Amino acid sequence: MLGLYFHIPFCASKCAYCDFYSFPGSAAQMDAYTAALCGRLRSFPAQPVDTVYFGGGTPSLLGGERIAAVLSAARRHFNITPDAEITVECNPDSMDDALLSALSAAGVGRLSIGVQSAHEDELRLLGRRHTFPQARQAVLLARTHGFRNLSLDLMYGLPGQSTEKFLESVERVLELRPEHLSCYGLKLEEGTPLHRAQPVLPDDDAQADTYLALCRRLAAAGFVHYEISNFCKPGFRARHNEKYWDLSEYLGIGAAAHSFLDGRRFAFPRDASAFIGGASPEPEEAVGSFDPRAEYLMLRLRTSDGICRADYQRRFGDFTPVEQVLRPLERCGLAACTVDGCHLTEQGFLVSNAIISQLI
Ligand code: SF4
Repeated sequence: MLGLYFHIPFCASKCAYCDFYSFPGSAAQMDAYTAALCGRLRSFPAQPVDTVYFGGGTPSLLGGERIAAVLSAARRHFNITPDAEITVECNPDSMDDALLSALSAAGVGRLSIGVQSAHEDELRLLGRRHTFPQARQAVLLARTHGFRNLSLDLMYGLPGQSTEKFLESVERVLELRPEHLSCYGLKLEEGTPLHRAQPVLPDDDAQADTYLALCRRLAAAGFVHYEISNFCKPGFRARHNEKYWDLSEYLGIGAAAHSFLDGRRFAFPRDASAFIGGASPEPEEAVGSFDPRAEYLMLRLRTSDGICRADYQRRFGDFTPVEQVLRPLERCGLAACTVDGCHLTEQGFLVSNAIISQLI
């Protein structure tokens, strides 16, 4: 079944590390953008959908009514299954009773909340608009509105951050009893204020220590480490994101939204005005050439399930070249192979780029 993604490009202000396509939008722009999303989805063939994801930007800034309107247009056009996973990304400073009531009434069952840190100095350095008490309050409020599937984001590898300091954030976040955690290392993206400030980040070894300490702590707390950056309580994997890692089909609607449909990749331009004006998505040649085997290896080796032998053989033929690279890595604890296939270990995740390059 298809995964449906809506990109919401509005943010109240720009975080210091962010190079995503987002900007502050007026109410009129948000109305026009919502209407464009509702209109545009009808230009794609109707088919069954079992995951819907509102990403951004800050989808919660769009408000519950507009999100409900998009969902209702999607329900009229696509066959959205009754048990579909419907996720909305939220920032703590734009979560209130009105938003959560509307999302709950519209059938949204999963929220992904950008917490990032429990330390105020780190939140200020990142240019986040919220404090940790606000994030905690937002999570508690979501619980009172009946949300039983919450994913929280954290960042590590921040300037001056020790492993101990990051683990304090982990402890504070675990107290909120999330079902899912996404933990990303900070990258200094060119053109961002943080990149221009040239801060000193923890070195690679320090970041590796922090990552492995995180993995150990979350395993002890009962989380399954199912993808390089993602951890969940049993039964709470992010079904929409799994479509990306499985090379399943997804349709992305909105400025800068990417799709993989009928074996083709295409993306709408990074321009909300053009999207509102009816711009068409660019075909795959314009968004980069697509090598299915390289992409499959890259995406599957991000996951703890890794590469299934039978699935690989069905798609690409002989599995031997994969085994020839990964089997020797078992001896140093970077990979594990069985009769069913091969996957990287947590140690292997740390050097996954080098391993994947060798495979490709
Ligand atoms: S809230 Fe997210 S998308 Fe918006 S500026 Fe911050 S990091 Fe970027």
